Amino acid sequence: MYCQNCGTELVENSNQCQNCHQVYAKEQGRGVMILIFGILSLVSLGPFLGIPAWVMGYKDLKKIKDGIIPVSEKGMTQAGMILGIISVVLTILLILAVAAIMVIVFMVNQNEGTFS
Ligand SMILES: [Zn+2]
Repeated sequence: MYCQNCGTELVENSNQCQNCHQVYAKEQGRGVMILIFGILSLVSLGPFLGIPAWVMGYKDLKKIKDGIIPVSEKGMTQAGMILGIISVVLTILLILAVAAIMVIVFMVNQNEGTFS
């Protein structure tokens, strides 16, 4: 990749021209998409959207740190990832709660069988 301003070759994993200090972002951020996924996953308690929001958010935050994606995407990316994590955690807790209730019901039924 070359600087569009002065034609100097840009250093790998750098978002700034060494010659004229023009700042470049190599990739478009997915902040809006990640945020929408995060919100939808939380509203519907769906890990199907929560996990992608988490994974994409994690990857994109790394790219933002490396200067590949513009820093302006950081807020949305972070928010979307956090919402995704919350929805995944809530889903796991819900599954554990349902499993615990089923175990309790099963044990109560067994005890009743023994004592009657
Ligand atoms: Zn330049």
